[in-house]
Amino acid sequence: MKIGFIGLGNMGAPMAANLAKAGHEVTGFDMAPVEVAGVTRAASAAEAARGADVVVTMLPNGQILRAVAAEVIPAMTAGAALVDCSTVDVDSARAVAADAEAAGLLAVDAPVSGGIGGAAAGTLTFMAGGSEAAFEKAKPLFDIMGQKAVHCGVAGAGQAAKICNNMILGVTMIATCEAFALADKLGLDRQKMFDVVSTSSGYSWTMNAYCPAPGVGPQSPADNDYKPGFAAELMLKDLRLSQQAAGSADADTPMGQLAEALYARFVEEEDGKGMDFSAMLPRFEKRGRG
Ligand code: NAD
Repeated sequence: MKIGFIGLGNMGAPMAANLAKAGHEVTGFDMAPVEVAGVTRAASAAEAARGADVVVTMLPNGQILRAVAAEVIPAMTAGAALVDCSTVDVDSARAVAADAEAAGLLAVDAPVSGGIGGAAAGTLTFMAGGSEAAFEKAKPLFDIMGQKAVHCGVAGAGQAAKICNNMILGVTMIATCEAFALADKLGLDRQKMFDVVSTSSGYSWTMNAYCPAPGVGPQSPADNDYKPGFAAELMLKDLRLSQQAAGSADADTPMGQLAEALYARFVEEEDGKGMDFSAMLPRFEKRGRG
């Protein structure tokens, strides 16, 4: 396929490289002067999109996605697909899909989980929203860049799945960290705490697969001085998107709201920026109730 790839950052560059390595003809554009193995550089987003069967975008936020979409949609050929893999607000995802469909294009919102490691290894999970035809067109590319693609529903459903998942993740990480900090103060050994919780009803992905306590459980960013991994500011971004969506949909999400507030404080006032999101544990460790 002829693929336009816009947004060659930490995630986009390795994803585009994997598409090129698989034999697709990939033309890329980024505002920054980046070179990606096997990817031809275009002078603009519109140039990267012209004549492409599929245009993939991997951009920072919904506002930038809307601006890029306004530029590439008129340059694309009817029947081609616009596949946005960025994590953006549900409203922007739906608006871009509507504009693309009005121009005779197929549209998919397909945010990912798996991080930079998953992007490089081609093991991302895609959660997709859009028509069946649009999903089918994008699926061979998902199979190259990832190991699983779930068609979640109509436009916006991929973003909805992503932010709901990450709201659970943020809330659960905080619960796991505060429970470890309480266990410390009660004189409970961390290894014993892990041995019990990881096989009891308090178990979770954050405890069992990504344990925030150094030296306990499987290898995780906690064992590497809390270098990300998944940075606290990216968790904050996703929690903000979840609360923005909850506001639009009139959904009561008190735990998500509190998780957003705690990560905001952690990132903006407590040196959490640049740390893994599991560094909530040393944050709780240092505090009392006051
Ligand atoms: P990044 O900042 O490294 O990359 C974004 C790229 O977009 C940059 O290279 C930037 O120059 C480019 N860009 C910005 N405006 C542009 C424009 N108008 N035209 C062309 N290029 C433009 O971010 P990233 O880590 O690659 O993340 C990309 C998306 O993936 C985000 O939405 C993020 O939330 C999501 N995501 C990231 C991770 C992760 O672990 N990094 C995991 C899952 C999802």
